[in-house]
Amino acid sequence: MYGIYIHFPYCIHKCSYCDFYSIENLNTRNKFVEMLCKEIEIRAYNFGEKIPANSLFFGGGTPSLMKTQHITKIFSALQQFIDFDKNSEMTIECNPGAIDIKNLDYYLTLGINRISFGVQSFLEKDLKFLERIHSTEDIYKSIKKSKSLGFKNISIDLMFALPNQSIEDWKYNLEKAVELDIQHISAYSLIYEPGTPLYDEYISGKISPQDEDKDAELYYLTNDILSENGFKQYEISNYAKDNFQCKHNLNYWNSGEYFGFGPSAHSYINGIRFWNYRSNDKYFKLLQYNQLAIESSEKLTIKQKAFESIYLGLRSLGIDLIEFKKKYSIDLYKENQKSIKQMIDNNLLFIKNNVLRLSNKGYFISDNITIELSKCLDDII
Ligand code: SF4
Repeated sequence: MYGIYIHFPYCIHKCSYCDFYSIENLNTRNKFVEMLCKEIEIRAYNFGEKIPANSLFFGGGTPSLMKTQHITKIFSALQQFIDFDKNSEMTIECNPGAIDIKNLDYYLTLGINRISFGVQSFLEKDLKFLERIHSTEDIYKSIKKSKSLGFKNISIDLMFALPNQSIEDWKYNLEKAVELDIQHISAYSLIYEPGTPLYDEYISGKISPQDEDKDAELYYLTNDILSENGFKQYEISNYAKDNFQCKHNLNYWNSGEYFGFGPSAHSYINGIRFWNYRSNDKYFKLLQYNQLAIESSEKLTIKQKAFESIYLGLRSLGIDLIEFKKKYSIDLYKENQKSIKQMIDNNLLFIKNNVLRLSNKGYFISDNITIELSKCLDDII
């Protein structure tokens, strides 16, 4: 079974920190939908039959800017070329400031059973700083409406480590999130991505990132407040109530296979990762002539695959040591026995049912632990 990702490359306004591919001119949406449907058809044709899938994720961009007729067309192509399991998780990302309330109901009738709101903060000053287009009022309204219509799996994204963000500010955000009585929260630390306006401000010295100690304090506060309120951490930035982990993302983190459609979307099939052009123009031009808009691809070596299994496994639900050995013929525990024991003693790692997992403390330095455990790959592969 595959995961299906659809990238909708339009936003009303680019947020200052965002480096996802999207454009602010919405005029080509009809063309995009036409080409997207073509891409789905060509990929299914190449696959040889309907593509079996158990998750669908509309990301972007701002997929809630799709008009009713766009959604209808896309779903008709999906039904024709993708064979969704009856228990599939289907998510749509929505911007609280760019949502057509009429469509919420329509999403449900089409089988979309999970909605993810880009909230980022419940404080107007943060929303202004991040150049979000919505207000706090928009957040409450859209979530209330979704719940009243019957959505039972609602997620929000929040962002911490904003410059000058106080502990009280972040605590307020977490408390407001908990009060919403939703099922899933993603809490990301602000990243200064090269090429974004925020990065330029950082480089020019106009703003300064939070120092590492404060970042750690905000991270631990997140763990404390969310775990006290029934949210379990299942990935470095993701927390869910029981049975509400995001299946689509778990597939990525388990090194599962997925098809990505739309400009800039990535796919991973048969050990090959490939990605589409990050340009609507190129995407349209190629698909117009029935050619896929793949910019490039890479076949992962065994070493890369093993590294990714360590990196992704540690960031989420852990590394199954027996599975790892079967897949890569490497006894990860034996190869790292001394350092693993040390990290267990320091409460950074633990092993349960042969799965090596990070503790809350370990999650915070997961990159360092990945490097440490991956050293053995150099000698073996
Ligand atoms: S709405 Fe989302 S995708 Fe669009 S610019 Fe903002 S963060 Fe990026």
